Amino acid sequence: MADIVFERAAPSPATVTTALAGTRHAVFWTEDAPGERAEKLEGTVDADLVIVGGGYTGLWTALRATDRDPSLRVVILEADTIGWAASGRNGGFVEASLTHGEENGKRRWPEELDRLDELGAENLDAIEAAVKAHEMKADFERTGTLTVAIEPHQLEWIEGPSTDDSVYLDETAVRAAVNSPTYLAGRWDKAGTALVHPAKLANELARVARERGVRIFEHSRVRALTDDGVQTAAGQVRARQTVLATNVFHSLLKRNRLMTVPVYDYVLMTEPLSAAQSKDIGWEDHQGLADMANQFHYYRRTADGRILFGGYDAVYHYGRRVNPEYENRPSSYERLASHFFTTFPQLEGLQFSHRWAGAIDTSTRFCAFYGTARKGRVAYAAGFTGLGVGATRFAADVMLDLLSGEKTERTELRMVRERPLPFPPEPAAAMGINATRWSLNQADHREGKRNILLKALDAVGLGFDS
Ligand SMILES: Cc1cc2nc3c(=O)[nH]c(=O)nc-3n(C[C@H](O)[C@H](O)[C@H](O)COP(=O)(O)OP(=O)(O)OC[C@H]3O[C@@H](n4cnc5c(N)ncnc54)[C@H](O)[C@@H]3O)c2cc1C
Repeated sequence: MADIVFERAAPSPATVTTALAGTRHAVFWTEDAPGERAEKLEGTVDADLVIVGGGYTGLWTALRATDRDPSLRVVILEADTIGWAASGRNGGFVEASLTHGEENGKRRWPEELDRLDELGAENLDAIEAAVKAHEMKADFERTGTLTVAIEPHQLEWIEGPSTDDSVYLDETAVRAAVNSPTYLAGRWDKAGTALVHPAKLANELARVARERGVRIFEHSRVRALTDDGVQTAAGQVRARQTVLATNVFHSLLKRNRLMTVPVYDYVLMTEPLSAAQSKDIGWEDHQGLADMANQFHYYRRTADGRILFGGYDAVYHYGRRVNPEYENRPSSYERLASHFFTTFPQLEGLQFSHRWAGAIDTSTRFCAFYGTARKGRVAYAAGFTGLGVGATRFAADVMLDLLSGEKTERTELRMVRERPLPFPPEPAAAMGINATRWSLNQADHREGKRNILLKALDAVGLGFDS
């Protein structure tokens, strides 16, 4: 197998060890913006709508429901604290795509894709408008994504003419924008992505919800759906309608238990760069950055001058559990640190301050699925597959449309009406997912060429193409 650039130009082991020496296992975002805490549900509360889960899906549902009817009595029940899970520990890339990218959408819903793209762009605009209208302090910046080719075979994937919103940068231009010796070319999609501080966004959504009278309860895990709402260990909410916004966690609906699997994604955060270090790398436009392999990195600046560097390893553990023990994986952090210094060798000496991981909400179609249960009283959306910061707002609208019982453009989309295939039970799930991951790594080492397993998965619509 051919070496990839991260193997050809790896830093010394000492560089990696030194940079990780002072790293704390903690999520930078939630530490930086802890948010307001809420009481636990005790006793009986009556509401019109009860939302299970206080990540972006639940929070946007509360906002969109009260946009539609300000008098609606809405309750959010969160098992832990608002935004503690994926919503507080992600990369903060707010993407317009509702289909996990163009290729995935084209393969599954070709006849709908143009409209899905428009709806996704409208959704991103609406997020920006909401941030402005409610003066959310969430470090929202509409800077776009710069996708970089770091191996020669990737060049053809991004070459082509520039438009106002999609600018091709050759080797000289891309390195002038962001100074990495690994970059061979880049494409800057200026319109389709914004960056945000993930935990601040969750906190600000919760603030606006509270200002509208939405009642939020933390440490209130819902144990079961009841005939007239939901039940926790210490209380119940009686409500006409229920939204399940529990994403990758154990579903309260049996039919959804095999629909998502947690795949662990690992992240490093550096300490703030000095003025000289910042000048050295450029990156003045603060684009979100992503390289192009199947196993790719995503990275970005923060408002206080750090760099977040995540991705590459995507680890599935037998038994499909969300388990904090899986977050401690030294080899993944070492690999990320090594790849960071391949990307920015001039930053040698910079320390990482935080390391953390989170469960990616993977579904077999790589984007969210939607539906209702209990005679239309319960709606759900889950399975955003690592691209839910923006798409959760769209999902909130879909669920509210479904609960309304009215046909809308959204409810009539094939993407909304179709359910994906479930993952198989163990041991088949672990064997299949890990064989796929192994094959994707092989493809990255073979100039992108896909082996027979990946081709077979592509043929039945289960192929992953980043
Ligand atoms: C490391 C990492 C990086 C990522 N980077 C990006 C990115 O840059 N861009 C992007 O678009 N996406 C990214 N994602 C994905 C994105 O964060 C998620 O798709 C999105 O946050 C999903 O929001 P959610 O509200 O559906 O789920 P979550 O944030 O997981 O929230 C679900 C909530 O439900 C609660 N819950 C579960 N069961 C119960 C119950 N029975 N009772 C009460 N509460 C319950 C949980 O405690 C949790 O708080 C990333 C994810 C990870 C892990």
